[in-house]
Amino acid sequence: MNEPGMLAAFLAYLEQRNATQDQIRTFIVYLKSAHRDESVPCPICYTFRGRHCGLTALHEKDGYTPLVCLACKETFNVPMQ
Ligand SMILES: [Zn+2]
Repeated sequence: MNEPGMLAAFLAYLEQRNATQDQIRTFIVYLKSAHRDESVPCPICYTFRGRHCGLTALHEKDGYTPLVCLACKETFNVPMQ
């Protein structure tokens, strides 16, 4: 996984949803504190519902790895490079 790309994609989604800078910072801290063997948390579910919903990685497509949240049905397109 392209971690800087994933972080940038998550931040863009959160900003689109009008998350505050505090909410964004809280999510980043949570993301970075998650154990490596844990699933990557959905930024929308964590920030707006206070829940950890693990994202599922789908097959790469057009240079992106789609990460899907089965709880809120949101898809996060993470660039591969
Ligand atoms: Zn979600």
